[in-house]
Amino acid sequence: MEMDTIAAISTPMGEGAIAIIRVSGEDAIQIGDNIYKGKKKLTEVESHTINYGHIIDPMSGDIIEEVMVSVLLAPRTFTKENMIEINCHGGLVSVNKILQLVLGQGARLAEPGEFTKRAFLNGRIDLSQAEGVMDLIRAKTDKAMNVAMSQIEGKLSIRIQKLRQELLETVAHVEVNIDYPEYDAEEMTLGILKEKAEIVNKGIDKLLATAQQGKILREGLSTVIIGRPNVGKSSLLNSLVHDNKAIVTDIPGTTRDVIEEYVNVRGVPLRLLDTAGIRETEDIVEKLGVERSRKVVLDSELVLLVLNNNEELTSADEELFQISDGRDRIIIINKTDLPQKINLNLVKELAIDQPIVTTSLLKDEGVDELEEAIKQLFFGGGLESEDLTYVSNSRHISLLNQAKTAVNDALGAIEVGMPVDVIQIDITKAWELLGEVIGDSVHESLIDQLFSQFCLGK
Ligand code: GDP
Ligand code: ZN
Repeated sequence: MEMDTIAAISTPMGEGAIAIIRVSGEDAIQIGDNIYKGKKKLTEVESHTINYGHIIDPMSGDIIEEVMVSVLLAPRTFTKENMIEINCHGGLVSVNKILQLVLGQGARLAEPGEFTKRAFLNGRIDLSQAEGVMDLIRAKTDKAMNVAMSQIEGKLSIRIQKLRQELLETVAHVEVNIDYPEYDAEEMTLGILKEKAEIVNKGIDKLLATAQQGKILREGLSTVIIGRPNVGKSSLLNSLVHDNKAIVTDIPGTTRDVIEEYVNVRGVPLRLLDTAGIRETEDIVEKLGVERSRKVVLDSELVLLVLNNNEELTSADEELFQISDGRDRIIIINKTDLPQKINLNLVKELAIDQPIVTTSLLKDEGVDELEEAIKQLFFGGGLESEDLTYVSNSRHISLLNQAKTAVNDALGAIEVGMPVDVIQIDITKAWELLGEVIGDSVHESLIDQLFSQFCLGK
């Protein structure tokens, strides 16, 4: 597969003291030489060196910029192609000027994700690793970043490959017995099939068990703050946002009718829903409050239900308990600086065994305990994956679920004593589905679609 030479600015536009222009492809180094002057020609320096020099406009002979150029010869590069990386001062004008010069020498502007796509197509990384790169770009917390890194390093790929290997051995075994029926090993084959299928089933389960946390790390835990007017919802929102680094997001296609904000609470990325509704002044009638809450609660994974310590529970409070029943929930009894009028026993009864935290948001008390409770709820289950292999991508989750179904079908077929070649069909299907996670046998259109979600220059 002959590929042309591509180029792009691979550092974020705007700020930043340096900018990097990446060029990849057969002609990358020659193109560099056409616009660069240093001690030595780039085509003459050793691979994996950084070279000081100047970018010269070949038409006018003008010096454009002082630069450092990395020369990276195929195949030991990210794309497995020849690459140069031109490091220059980050001024927008000169960066663009250099890019134009590179394009003028025959390179083509890279599409979003095209460098990573080449790394994938050239066999440098598999699809789940490439998706890790995309997750890394978008990671909202340190932990999410580490999970993405682990995926880029291929930890998920290794697990998937192990499971596929088990299935492959099973299939091979079946083939042998079909080829040599005189051994009459049908009985034994069924036994081995069952054993292997169960191993794979467990392996998939283990991966899927990380999915919920993985997805939350990747996408944020959708959280809603509910409570009657004046209990302290806005105060809570403000204190969560001020205490914690608000997270900026630029994920395309996430326009929703609910306004949301992200905060990082002790490693748990909260996606706070309906913050506009909370920030609004309190002239909405009580009923609308409950109706609105009912709607957002449906979209949420975590409910923060705020009550007023200084008032008796009302029927509206109880209604809010009702509409959020069955969700992960933390009850916050606010305004503990004021005399207690709330019936704590009744709250405990309504909360059943969900955590209750007391706060005085006015005095900034209890927020630490609340944040700890959020962290506990999320990480407390002991589910924290030991080697950071979380399945976080919904494409992977769906494939794993399908593969599990196929394995279960095989197990069911074994149970009722179906012929081995029928069982083999299910096993093969599971093998193929697992392969799709790492990019074996995926359609080209899917690959295009996946890579087009990347940022420019990656
Ligand atoms: P919301 O209507 O639920 O959003 O409640 P707000 O956060 O707007 O708070 C309503 C009022 O209660 C404001 O005047 C706050 O200053 C006050 N408030 C919030 N938290 C506390 C608290 O812990 N103690 C006291 N005494 N007042 C509070
Ligand atoms: Zn408010």
